Amino acid sequence: MKYGIDIGHNCPPSDIGYVGIRKEDELNKEVGVKVIAKLKELKQEVVYCTPSADSSLSNSLYRRVNKANEENVDLYVSIHFNGGRGDGTEVFAISESSKKTAKRVVDEIAQLGYVNRGVKDGSFLYLLKNTKMPAILVEGGFLNSKDDMERFNAENIANAIVNGITTF
Ligand SMILES: [Zn+2]
Repeated sequence: MKYGIDIGHNCPPSDIGYVGIRKEDELNKEVGVKVIAKLKELKQEVVYCTPSADSSLSNSLYRRVNKANEENVDLYVSIHFNGGRGDGTEVFAISESSKKTAKRVVDEIAQLGYVNRGVKDGSFLYLLKNTKMPAILVEGGFLNSKDDMERFNAENIANAIVNGITTF
């Protein structure tokens, strides 16, 4: 299977992640790099969808979507951590098949001890609206949550995501 992996934000100057107790860009990258390595170990094909620099936020988002569509990946996975108030993990999706994958991922992450906020409707998200294949956006935890940040372990979350997206 061909996976499009998008390490959220990490695209200066315009697309920079949220900063809470920890920086979203750092966490997205720590997890995403491990997800990519683990998929490759499983002999899966990986397309890296994060651009290295952008001219605007919309350009950063457009290029992620365009990469996934051009490469015709089977599943697009965007990796994020949440800003704002709250605790726990949630995964966004639009189509029914995407929601099934999202449910497996959110349940896997919740098993690590995070509050399970479930699958959320991602129809307002540009990345999910414009990718042509099943697509999910993972929110691994809240950057302002002391509990979530103390529990954070890139290896564990990467394993949870990989288990969720490679099980059918
Ligand atoms: Zn984000």
